[in-house]
Amino acid sequence: MFSSSSSKNSVYNSLRERIIHCQKCPLSQGRTNAVPGEGSVEAELMFVGEAPGRDEDIQGKPFVGRAGQLLTKIINAMEFKREDVYITNLIKCRPPENRTPYKEEIEKCQDYLLEQLKFVKPRVVVALGKVASDFFVPSSLGMTALRGNFYQYGPVQVMPTFHPSYIVRNEGNRIIKKMVWEDMKKVMAFLGKR
Ligand code: URA
Repeated sequence: MFSSSSSKNSVYNSLRERIIHCQKCPLSQGRTNAVPGEGSVEAELMFVGEAPGRDEDIQGKPFVGRAGQLLTKIINAMEFKREDVYITNLIKCRPPENRTPYKEEIEKCQDYLLEQLKFVKPRVVVALGKVASDFFVPSSLGMTALRGNFYQYGPVQVMPTFHPSYIVRNEGNRIIKKMVWEDMKKVMAFLGKR
């Protein structure tokens, strides 16, 4: 599709620029930085969270706070480096007080994620938490019922799992950690790791 890696880079950079300067919804007024996403644009594995938090808003990078440090550990335990996967969020600007994104905010922002999916073409998306999972697999089921299974989303296999913030909030709960690790082992097996 791309004649050279430099034309691929320029398409990617222009997508990043559009996100960074986006003013499609009022969240743009309150942000320090939009958070487009980062990682390898050749990644076979993409992680999609809900929305940037405080640390992410300050740094303009996804998953750099406490939940992000845990996500990095999970990625490393899966025998990937953080820079080998692609990490982004359903919406690219921080909602005030980290509230759950409104439906209209998701609708306004979702084209960016769809472009990232088309561009990176991952084989697997790990949807972190209910808000990201609902985008790919709309369902009245809770995370406990949804997680642990692959769902087809166009050409991509989506694995919903608990959000790392939920693990952080329930730090002593080994059952949640175990479930997430079981889900990640399924992703590794699908991608031919182990
Ligand atoms: N939570 C998310 O969903 N995304 C981030 O980038 C950080 C925390």
